[in-house]
Amino acid sequence: MSTVAQCLFCRIVAGEIPADVVAENADAVAFRDINPQAPLHVLVVPREHHADVAQLAAADPRLLAAVVELADQVAGTEADGQFRLIFNTGPESGQSVFHAHGHVLGGVRLGWTPA
Ligand code: 5GP
Repeated sequence: MSTVAQCLFCRIVAGEIPADVVAENADAVAFRDINPQAPLHVLVVPREHHADVAQLAAADPRLLAAVVELADQVAGTEADGQFRLIFNTGPESGQSVFHAHGHVLGGVRLGWTPA
């Protein structure tokens, strides 16, 4: 697990690593996933570092709501407001970047086969 200084998504938020940013506000940033799994695949991250969505919810529920609102805004622009929002939490779930982030998926009828 990385420190905040080394955290990939902290570095994207800080503009140290380039990303295709599609929306942002004072609390959160939305950028396209580098390996998209759907026509719309955007990651929404809080600017502040929290390791996963459970820790984010416990520390600052308002900030989690801001992440969801930005996800809805992106989907409203790019996928008629219809989207799936996934927060992988823990390595067994598939989480690989330990800065809380929601995957906003849409733009196609989605199947339901997580395994
Ligand atoms: P996780 O597996 O933690 O739920 O999701 C991490 C996501 O970050 C993956 O979907 C992966 O493709 C994406 N990702 C990893 N490195 C980068 C990067 O440097 N830039 C962008 N835009 N996405 C990345």
